[in-house]
This record gives sequence, structure tokens and C-alpha cells, in this order.
Amino acid sequence: MDIIIGAGISGLSYAAFCGHKDYRILEQSDKIGGYCKTTERNGFVWDYSGHFFHFKDKEIEQFVAQNIPVEDLLTVRKKTQIRYKDRLIDYPFQMNIHQLPQQEFIDCLYDLFANPTTNFSNFKEMLYAKFGKSIADKFLIPYNSKLYACDLNTLDKDAMGRFFPYAEKEQIVRNFKAANNDTYNATFVYPKHGAIQYVDSLASHVNREAICLNAAVAAICPKEHNITLRSGEKIQYDRLISTVPFSKLMDLIGESKNPALSWNKVLVFNIGFDKQGLDTQNHWIYFPEDKYCFYRVGFYSNILGADRCSLYVELGFDKAANIQPDELLSRVLKDLQEAQIITDDMQVVDHEAIIMDPAYVHVSAEATRYVAEQKTALEKDDIYSIGRYGSWTYCSIEDNIKEAKALANHLN
Ligand SMILES: Cc1cc2nc3c(=O)[nH]c(=O)nc-3n(C[C@H](O)[C@H](O)[C@H](O)COP(=O)(O)OP(=O)(O)OC[C@H]3O[C@@H](n4cnc5c(N)ncnc54)[C@H](O)[C@@H]3O)c2cc1C
Repeated sequence: MDIIIGAGISGLSYAAFCGHKDYRILEQSDKIGGYCKTTERNGFVWDYSGHFFHFKDKEIEQFVAQNIPVEDLLTVRKKTQIRYKDRLIDYPFQMNIHQLPQQEFIDCLYDLFANPTTNFSNFKEMLYAKFGKSIADKFLIPYNSKLYACDLNTLDKDAMGRFFPYAEKEQIVRNFKAANNDTYNATFVYPKHGAIQYVDSLASHVNREAICLNAAVAAICPKEHNITLRSGEKIQYDRLISTVPFSKLMDLIGESKNPALSWNKVLVFNIGFDKQGLDTQNHWIYFPEDKYCFYRVGFYSNILGADRCSLYVELGFDKAANIQPDELLSRVLKDLQEAQIITDDMQVVDHEAIIMDPAYVHVSAEATRYVAEQKTALEKDDIYSIGRYGSWTYCSIEDNIKEAKALANHLN
């Protein structure tokens, strides 16, 4: 029997594609979906921070969307900006330096062409080398430091892979007159009832009776091919497919962890108001400055075309931080006013706080080497670690589905 740990996108995808029914999915939560759960309450639709879908593989898109009514799927042309000092400039920052005050524009442009080097060994050095000191210091470094909550020189130079909006100098200059700010998610799809519609559609390809909720795995014994649930129950497996964070898998097996496994936590506030706010255009806005406690604010109301402001607000923390959401909400509301997103006469109708832990793993050369080496060793004991956190990477939901499908095809 295949035991799958986790009923998120990766665990459900493995079950959907494995081609047999001899599996059980063990999920610690009382719901399926992992980080793709949705809260629908008081007329608001909220995910675990914004979850938007951008498929490149048509076959996967059709498979996952098969059971969603077509009229529920909104295709949205992304509009995003950056609050930089007293103005909003288009994202990505490096492509829109011509929207800065003249002296700052000159500094960015001059530095872009000064001291070009191809010699860099970490993420921070890459930002300076590719974009120059001013673009790096004004946006790329403060924003990413707030998000990752770490020193960026500890991250691999390619820590964000294809998700980083690289731009050649020629593209940047061309953008001064012919705007093309497209990134990997220039157009995205969002279901009217949130990310959970994709999860439910995917789960319709899975044997529902094989999904055990409130079933937290407490220990794994690779040599005996069994796992122990928190309830004390022991279950034998032939193959174990784990989608839990790799650091946690090491704990479950009783292995000591490499300290290179580092990550951040993200606190998400989903907040619904009684009326529309000041911004009715943007889908999300980036905040590099320290005076705002959040690094990004997204607008469900602008995506769904709702008449009451509905936001997700994201704050980055170190993995060791003791986060007290109740103490932070009033600061968030104050900063939202300061950022000209809400006004002081807007009332909060409903809200929730979610802590994503881990949220972004710190991709470093050492962590990547260690995870690859351990995964190969575990496979000899029939343990396969997949998923955004099981593979310790920066990726999209589509990447998770593809990885799970590839493993399912390989094993079956
Ligand atoms: C802030 C943020 C925004 C994002 N936005 C997007 C986006 O817009 N578009 C996009 O494509 N991707 C986005 N992602 C990425 C996306 O969330 C992930 O790629 C995807 O949800 C990962 O699915 P998974 O199944 O691999 O992991 P998870 O969703 O983490 O699932 C793992 C499951 O394992 C369960 N589990 C853990 N431990 C145990 C245990 N001991 N016993 C039993 N069960 C256990 C968990 O409860 C969970 O259900 C975002 C991620 C973050 C952090």
C-alpha cells in the first residue's frame, strides 16, 4: 500500500495520477487543501494569502479544472504596483524606474550601466550585479528582505528561479516608451469561490474514502516500513509519499537536521470592510519601506469585482518569531490608512489571521545539496518526498501537480 502524508495539492495529485486505489492519505488537519484552503464567510472569499493559478500545461489545466463550472473561472489580466515613498509605480520596479522622480531615475539608470559584473555568488550580490546599486537599494533588497526575513546574502543566487522578474538593460530602456511589464503570471485564473474549487475538483479524481482527516503522523520507521499516528495507531506501508516540509520529515524519521534548512513564516490577515476602499484598480501592491509592517497587500474585491473592500495583508517573519496576530491587527489597520488603501470611516466587518509556517524556504546552495542527497538516500527505503516543502523549493501549484504526476508515473 502507498501511504501519502498530506492532503494538499501534492498529496491529492499523487493519488489522482497513481492509477490504482491501494493508497491512504493521512492529513493532520480537519480539511483537505493544505495551503490552498479557502474561507467563505459573510460574503467574503479568502485564501491562505492570494492563491492565483497560472497554468502552462493545458492538459494539467483541463484535468484540474474539469469539475469547476466555466462561469466560476475568472481570467484576470494582472495589475500590480509598488508604493514607493509618496507615489505608486508600476511593477516590476526595475522596468519602471522612469516613473521615479528625476534625480532617482538618473541614479538608477547610471548605476544600471556602471560596474557591470557577471561575478556573483548569492542572491544579494546577484541583485547588485544585474541591476546596480540604486535599483537594488531602493526596492529589490528592502522588499525581499521584508519578505524573506533574512539576510539576502544567505540565499542562492537563483533562489527564486523563474519567478524572479529578470530584465536585460535593453528591455528596461525600451520600457521607458513601450510598456511591457509582463511577468510569469501576467494573466491568471481565479475561481469565484477561491482556491478550494481547484482542490475539490482535483479531489474528485481521488478515492474520498482513502482520505483520513485529523490523522497526524507522529513518527516514521523507515527500516520497518511503518508510521505511527499521533493517536498511537501504527500503519504498515510499501511506499511512503511525504508532502510535509523536508525539515519536519527529518524530525519524523528521528534524523538530525542540517542547519542550512531555514525558512520564513508569513502572517496573513484577511480583512473584509463595510464599503469600498481607495484603490479599486490594483490586484496587489508591494511595500518595500519599513514604515509599513506588511510587504504586500492584495485586493480580493478588485479581482472579484465586489463592492466591499476585501484584502489579504502579508507580513514576513523569522522562523523563530513568536507571532501574536491580535497585537498586530491595529498596526496593520493604521498602516493601511497611511498607505491610502482604507479610510478612517471604513469598518472591519470580518477578519481572520493565518500563520504560514513554513511560507518561503530559504533556497541556499547547501540546503539544495543536502535535500537532494537525503532524498536519494530515502528512496532506497521507499520514501519519496515531494511538494513545495517536501522538495524544499520555490514553485507554483502547477509545478507541484507536475512533480506528483511524474512520481506517480515513475512508480506505477
Ligand atoms: C504566501 C504564499 C502565496 C502563494 N501564492 C501562490 C499562488 O498565487 N500561485 C501558486 O501557484 N502557488 C502559490 N503558492 C504556493 C502554493 O501554496 C504551494 O505550492 C502549494 O500549496 C503546496 O502544496 P503542497 O501539497 O506541496 O504542500 P501543503 O499545501 O503544505 O500540503 C502539505 C499537507 O501536509 C499536511 N501535513 C503536514 N504535516 C503532517 C503530518 N505530520 N501528518 C499529516 N499531515 C501533515 C499539512 O496539513 C498539509 O495539508 C503560495 C505560497 C505562499 C507561501
